[in-house]
Amino acid sequence: MSAPLGRALVTGAGGFIGHHLVSSLKQRGYWVRGVDLKRPEYSDSQADEFLVADLREAAACRAATDGVGDVYALAADMGGMGFIANNHSIILHNNALINLHTIEAARRNGVQRLLYTSSACVYPEFKQTDANVSPLKEDDAYPAMPQDAYGWEKLITERLCHHYKEDYGLDTRVVRFHNIFGPLGSWDGGREKAPAALCRKVARAKLTGEHEIEIWGDGEQTRSFCYIDDCVEGIYRLMESGFQEPLNLGQDRLISINELARVVARIAGIEVGLRHVPGPMGVRGRNSDNTLLRKVLGWEPAVSLEDGLRTTYQWIEEQVRGQLSGRSSGQPA
Ligand code: NAD
Repeated sequence: MSAPLGRALVTGAGGFIGHHLVSSLKQRGYWVRGVDLKRPEYSDSQADEFLVADLREAAACRAATDGVGDVYALAADMGGMGFIANNHSIILHNNALINLHTIEAARRNGVQRLLYTSSACVYPEFKQTDANVSPLKEDDAYPAMPQDAYGWEKLITERLCHHYKEDYGLDTRVVRFHNIFGPLGSWDGGREKAPAALCRKVARAKLTGEHEIEIWGDGEQTRSFCYIDDCVEGIYRLMESGFQEPLNLGQDRLISINELARVVARIAGIEVGLRHVPGPMGVRGRNSDNTLLRKVLGWEPAVSLEDGLRTTYQWIEEQVRGQLSGRSSGQPA
């Protein structure tokens, strides 16, 4: 029997995007269950019910997907380049288990729609060797050659969604995020991504007066960055669209990591020197081709990088201020 729409599960609801998605679904009037290994670290979840559970376990997935019509599958063992480049086995093992069990439990429990959060990391390394890269279209994912195990696992779960749709009629969506950023996400400790890490480094430089920050590699690697409000809006629009093939969700403004650091420093109102040190850089360049996104959703991300970074920087500066003054880094400042 199908579970009712209007009741939604968000897996990974203790994480960055999942936490924001729960809030936005609540605002839209949904009854929401969140599930995660941990509760959100920086503000309370608005979920009607929050299960602390390990989704690598089949039984936990069955309990989580019970009685909901929509599943937003965000749970993943992941982090920034430093984490992704150094934990291939753990990432492939944990995320494969989470996704295999989540989709099978959704099917058994009569879930109507399941949205899987994939990544731009599925795109082949050989199409991303130039900093001035051509934007990546959804079709570019094949022939497959993602750089890391993280991307391979995402690709496998994309296929899983496709086959569950074909074989069982599960109404699936697949979204490929391109570098989502914003407040209330990891900003320290090794799992943070480039925008949060740069905001933290610049904030520390500002608050300590030591105006030099480290950049991994030569800093000329390029990416596009999408603000969290646009991300949750896009997720919801995709779920409602009925579109069942993979879809990019990101900004298409390409910027180097060096330039991103300078933008953050301008927002902070300081000048910083950039010290380039050895570190994982990922692919040389990556950008989102939003042609299909515009066509399918009649919409695309609208928040400018500067506006999004301003809000993010202010939040992270508060966290750093709390850390420097001796408050625990996991608590709201
Ligand atoms: P996040 O790390 O903040 O959130 C993921 C959450 O999953 C964490 O809270 C973690 O505790 C939870 N989790 C991990 N293992 C679990 C388990 N065994 N059982 C239950 N929960 C578990 O990451 P995020 O940035 O919010 O990303 C959400 C999704 O979007 C992930 O699938 C990620 O791969 C994908 N994605 C994110 C980005 C980005 O830029 N943030 C880019 C591409 C794809």
